[in-house]
Amino acid sequence: MNIPMIWGLSSTLDQFREHDDWTRQQLETHQQQTLMQLREHAYRNSPFYQRFHQGLYDKPLHELPVLTKQLLMEHFDDVVTDRNIQLSNIRKRRVDTMDALFLEQYRVIASLGSTGCPSIHVFKKQEWEVLQTSFGRAYDWAGIEAGDISYRKVAMVASVEPRHLSYQVAHTLKNPWVSTLRLLVTDPIDTIVRQLNDWQPEALFTYSSMAYALALEQHAKRLHISPSTIMTTAEVLPEMTRRFIKQVWGKEIFNQYTTTETGILAVECNHHNGMHIAEDLLIVENVDEHHRPVPLGEYGAKLLVTVLFNHTQPLIRYELDDSVRLLKQSCACGRPFVLVDTIQGRTEDNLHFPSGEAGQVTIHPHFFYQIMDDISARAWQIVHKDEGLHIFLCDLQNASITDDRVVEIFEKALAKQWVIVPKIYVHHVATLSRTPNGKTLLIKSENTSTMMS
Ligand SMILES: [Zn+2]
Repeated sequence: MNIPMIWGLSSTLDQFREHDDWTRQQLETHQQQTLMQLREHAYRNSPFYQRFHQGLYDKPLHELPVLTKQLLMEHFDDVVTDRNIQLSNIRKRRVDTMDALFLEQYRVIASLGSTGCPSIHVFKKQEWEVLQTSFGRAYDWAGIEAGDISYRKVAMVASVEPRHLSYQVAHTLKNPWVSTLRLLVTDPIDTIVRQLNDWQPEALFTYSSMAYALALEQHAKRLHISPSTIMTTAEVLPEMTRRFIKQVWGKEIFNQYTTTETGILAVECNHHNGMHIAEDLLIVENVDEHHRPVPLGEYGAKLLVTVLFNHTQPLIRYELDDSVRLLKQSCACGRPFVLVDTIQGRTEDNLHFPSGEAGQVTIHPHFFYQIMDDISARAWQIVHKDEGLHIFLCDLQNASITDDRVVEIFEKALAKQWVIVPKIYVHHVATLSRTPNGKTLLIKSENTSTMMS
């Protein structure tokens, strides 16, 4: 435990709390000031940005080029603002030394990279404290106060890979008042259930698919816990799953949207109207596939995020493959931060189907979300394979929906999209398949003929 660090964090958290009372105008002024500081720092110290933004130093943010993950990794050594940080040296680090600071002042984490190559992210000690505090704020909004005198038991079922964000945050957030049981999400469910029964956590923190799996265990009377707070993260959270978890434990979930690059990107307050974007730490632009802005209330194809608190590895208009919708309405809690409703899926979850008219049609994840809401399965997964579209259903709620009806619903909906309708297979399963990281991809393509598009 690290008492000075906790005091440092709690004073940062106090500052964060003041932002809740800001007007929208105050928030935007703060964003412009911190953006200016970030850009000045990048233009002085990052050879990459000196070239990338050449002639654009005075241009507004939305006129700057987009930074992709690929560009970031290709020019890693030039992007960072300390010339001592080199990717080759980071890669040489052994896993068992990951807890130590790199060059005695930097925390290094890898993105999970469920698809494609993982990216590496570097935070100076003070920047890492801001990222940690963003997690502390999520706890705070969920009613678990950082530094709360009452003893709290938190169970975290997540990745225990030392290079990953959840491990690093939990490791460095250790504090004497919150006791955390860390369980590996990829462990057999029986093992996780037994340990949770022994531990009796007051708060449960996990991926939404694991929260669902545990709710099923509780429903089947094998798991007997009564957490007062449930926080979910990292994945798409279908409405049916959310409702089932609430039914089982009688608690509304506090969902979070986290990325390795930003820490907390958005988090729910106790009004549960959606997730508030951490706009005091980030500038988020919702855009279509050509990086044009998308109006509030409509789905974008990608998010461009500018991380205001990381001067070590500046991310300015960094592209995230997430398809989300920012909401028009403000929240009754009065916070000035814009709301995002549930993440509809990663852009890589788009499925591509042959079409008689246009050659090929791209179907976005929210198309399937709408269909699956009508079908009312507690959890589901759609896998596009060469031979057709496989629909995996857990625990169908509506007994009147037969397999034939599911096939019919899909065929009709896809035909309306001018798609040459593939063969539809319906499977009833107890659990969904997971990636090696323990996550469940709700929509995935294993179709070899359309994957390259
Ligand atoms: Zn709110």
